[in-house]
Amino acid sequence: MNRASALAALLEQPTLWDVLVIGGGATGLGVAVDAAARGLRTALVEQSDFAKGTSSRSTKLIHGGFRYLKQGNIALVRESLHERGLLLRNAPHLVHPLNFIVPCYHWWEAPYYGVGLKLYDWFAGDLGISASRHLSRGETQEGLPNLKSAGLRGGIRYQDGQFDDARLAIALAQTAATLGASVANYARVVSLLKKDGRVAGARVCDAESGKDFPVHARVVINATGVFSDSVRRMDEAGAPPVIAASQGAHLVLPRQFLGSNTAIMVPRTDDGRVLFIIPWEDRVLVGTTDTSVSETPLEPRARAGEIQFLLEHAAQYLPKAPAKSDILSVTAGVRPLVKLPGAKSTAALPRDHVVLVSSGGLITIAGGKWTTYRKMAADAVDRAMAVASLPRKPCTTEHLRLADTRRRSGQSASETLPGIGGTGPLSRRLHPDLPLTADDVLHAARHEMARTVEDVLSRRSRSLLLDARAAMEAAPSVAALLTKGFGRGPVWEAEQVAVFRELAKGHLPQ
Ligand SMILES: Cc1cc2nc3c(=O)[nH]c(=O)nc-3n(C[C@H](O)[C@H](O)[C@H](O)COP(=O)(O)OP(=O)(O)OC[C@H]3O[C@@H](n4cnc5c(N)ncnc54)[C@H](O)[C@@H]3O)c2cc1C
Repeated sequence: MNRASALAALLEQPTLWDVLVIGGGATGLGVAVDAAARGLRTALVEQSDFAKGTSSRSTKLIHGGFRYLKQGNIALVRESLHERGLLLRNAPHLVHPLNFIVPCYHWWEAPYYGVGLKLYDWFAGDLGISASRHLSRGETQEGLPNLKSAGLRGGIRYQDGQFDDARLAIALAQTAATLGASVANYARVVSLLKKDGRVAGARVCDAESGKDFPVHARVVINATGVFSDSVRRMDEAGAPPVIAASQGAHLVLPRQFLGSNTAIMVPRTDDGRVLFIIPWEDRVLVGTTDTSVSETPLEPRARAGEIQFLLEHAAQYLPKAPAKSDILSVTAGVRPLVKLPGAKSTAALPRDHVVLVSSGGLITIAGGKWTTYRKMAADAVDRAMAVASLPRKPCTTEHLRLADTRRRSGQSASETLPGIGGTGPLSRRLHPDLPLTADDVLHAARHEMARTVEDVLSRRSRSLLLDARAAMEAAPSVAALLTKGFGRGPVWEAEQVAVFRELAKGHLPQ
């Protein structure tokens, strides 16, 4: 995966791509993998970094969505459970089963949630993980030693999938590239090209050089999440909005708060939301909120009320109430839900996806969730092939193993960038509180298209999420390595540190 060669391929004229994908989140990257796997000449451009948008800000669960059962959306649960099973098979290096316990404090909870979870097991069919089961009070406490015990009656144990969202995005980008697609980050679509009223490509601006150029394609797929409407309006100025944005925030706490490898799932908080308290990468992830928002910035910030909500609700289940000062990092993301007329709140909007085709032939794939990215991609590419009258080829991703881009221990990246010396001293941790070495930084730059300090600290490693203060402290070391590796100068280096520190401040509770 190499940005320079991807851009060179995009700049080559007069190439006619079969498919141009706009957006390098879960949806767009999934589309690029699907299209390339069908043998289509595929290009993908992402305005910022891969997964910079919603796709690095999820709860990191590959799940059927237990709560959608309650909404009666059985088709979505079935489809999600099927996809969960496929992902566990196709990306075992990135997705693993995680134990959850639903704690029961009221007499009706065990039978009510127990029946729901039996249905959940059943819908997973042959691709199920392990069956759910009722737990006594003692078994529940054994699984969750730090769970509040006052009034506890028992629990229900079940399994879902857990993953690292930004890492899965990189694996998809790598898989697409290996299948022959050209994928480039920091390449923004500024307008669409039209021929005889039909969308025939896009003008793309390389954010690093500032130059823009045309990319011609038989069909363009808009996979820009919460930004979908802005791209649709490049095609039809008056296109009515279809995206209803809903913000969700997560807190990251030290692992001691949970003290277990099992997650807590609360299907209904006192104000009717779902709450997860999840072990993740030696930390605890507490989420999530669901607040409809009108603004959709690329770098959303958690609101004070969201942080308060999560602290208060975590304290209802954990004997040691977490305080603001315990928070290692806060993150917020915006769900690209599809708006249906008459829906009361964004929490009530379905997580299903839709494929829209404009009169000019622009395909928009929106909604859905990380878990169903593969099915979303298959639907979008099927539609795109029909719109562009491309010869029909079936989807082949059900059994496609995803790339593994992780650095092997002992593998040095030092020889791969100019100006970097021997490996010995490079392999030390860059910060005592972060599992990040100099070799990791160089590997990310050389093999995973990391271009900035933020790419390395936020998405190739998850340092920013694990500990925002430590990430700020590690920024100068990362900047120094990238500056040397890319042959940049002191101005770029200082700017990288300043920009990252400003961004990281937004991941600390105010
Ligand atoms: C709080 C929260 C928790 C969630 N938890 C889960 C979970 O546990 N499991 C699950 O399955 N799902 C979860 N989801 C849903 C899932 O994260 C999203 O559905 C998914 O990430 C959306 O991916 P996307 O590619 O459509 O959007 P995005 O990831 O936002 O990608 C769109 C991309 O398009 C790019 N772009 C925009 N305009 C342009 C342009 N002009 N040119 C080029 N690029 C452009 C953006 O920079 C962006 O990177 C969660 C969502 C949220 C908000």
